[in-house]
Amino acid sequence: MAETKDGRRRHRKPHAIFIPYPLQGHVIPSVHLAVKLASHGFTVTFVNTHYIHHKISTATGSGDVFSKLRESSPGGESLDIRYATVSDGLPLGFDRSLNHDQFMASLLHVFSAHVEELVAGIVASGEEVSCLITDTFFVWPAKVAKKFGLVCVSFWTEPALVYTLYHHVHLLRQNGHFGCQDRREDAIEYIPGVASIEPKDTTSYLQEAGETSVCHQIIFRAFQDARGADFVVANTVQELEAETISALQAQMSYYAIGPIFPPGFVRSAVGTSLWSESDCSHWLDARKPGSVLYVSFGSYAHVEKTDLVEIARGLALSGVSFVWVLRDDIVSSDDPNPLPVGFREEVSDRSMIVGWCSQKEVLAHPAIGGLLTHCGWNSILEAAWCGVPLLCFPLYTDQFTNRKLVVDDWKVGINLVDCKAVRKEDVAKNIGRLMGGELGDDPRKRAKEVKKILASALGNNGSSSRNFGQFVEELKNRIQ
Ligand code: UDP
Repeated sequence: MAETKDGRRRHRKPHAIFIPYPLQGHVIPSVHLAVKLASHGFTVTFVNTHYIHHKISTATGSGDVFSKLRESSPGGESLDIRYATVSDGLPLGFDRSLNHDQFMASLLHVFSAHVEELVAGIVASGEEVSCLITDTFFVWPAKVAKKFGLVCVSFWTEPALVYTLYHHVHLLRQNGHFGCQDRREDAIEYIPGVASIEPKDTTSYLQEAGETSVCHQIIFRAFQDARGADFVVANTVQELEAETISALQAQMSYYAIGPIFPPGFVRSAVGTSLWSESDCSHWLDARKPGSVLYVSFGSYAHVEKTDLVEIARGLALSGVSFVWVLRDDIVSSDDPNPLPVGFREEVSDRSMIVGWCSQKEVLAHPAIGGLLTHCGWNSILEAAWCGVPLLCFPLYTDQFTNRKLVVDDWKVGINLVDCKAVRKEDVAKNIGRLMGGELGDDPRKRAKEVKKILASALGNNGSSSRNFGQFVEELKNRIQ
């Protein structure tokens, strides 16, 4: 703690270097958390990859992601958020989602070296830096923080249930549920704070027999490194995962501070989209309340072409109106038009198909009555915030575990398909059930209840507000 001329003790202004994982679903909550920390008295140096910076600035026309915030919003100019970019080791035109393993390998070997150079440069410049806030999926944060004498904060952007599965992977190995031939198929009932979970509901990486992929290496090394973090802050809500979070809190400084949204939820002065957004509001304004299904598989996952075709046919059969975010690479970059011939014409009077949109704005629109989702965690939190029930179609990674929370635990959604095979008849039937058929009311009623839980968590004295306040206080104390 520094002293003023009259001898009074003065708190140093904390300065955090914040490094998000360079994927859309990680950058979005990271940006909003950075702004929140800046509005609580932090100086933040936020670091994007050149690629993410290029995509966002092209899509939103902003210089850096915070430039509009500094210029336009009340109080924005007083926020001390600096911005830096580093290379992830790949050319801008490289297709990162198609070549996922190569991308991950480059993050592991090249990006990590660039980040360390950047941190070293900031520290050497004489800037007082106090902490490093980085995505839990990086393998180096605790090591780098230690090297430069910084407090290490691990930012977890998925549910606590997923965190605890990775954190306890040694128990899965010991008990024969992972990492061996003839893995057990019965329920897992020994993870602290998790009463029971079926192997099919663990993350896709924990369901795979081999563990030699670069992603496995990254995840297990990252969770090893995270054991050295001083704090873990998580984009989840205490009340939604009470037992799992309590069990983690018995082992580490774990703070559930979610959902992390911009103030006002819908409109943010901070640019976060990697693609330019189509405006759906006029089209939605003309629809009846609760009548439209919003369909999105997020920013990164690919859908099998045969499944996509069945989903399209199911949507056509259902008769329901829908907005569908269909990224160019939803099947693969080599197949930008995978819809069945004639589909667009068949549904043209009751559909809007776009490449990307402002999802928060769409979900908050009264016309939306449901979300057909790949179960990305941000999408789940955003739908829950709006009281929108879900139709679940998990594709990979944490999405299987997220589905369990949505369908089995909170009961705010139902499964899109009844068995592994995607058939248009099941798709149409389940869309009908969610959007107003015989089961429509149950998840809808539960979604309204969960909406209240989230609102109260972020309200005055709500659990996430308290946890965030406590985290900031403890972090500041640690820094002095
Ligand atoms: N999103 C968006 N517009 C779209 C589709 C998605 O702004 O057209 C946002 C969405 O609001 C969410 C994020 O992209 O914040 C996707 O994150 P999620 O965790 O749901 O899935 P991921 O992309 O990580 O698989």
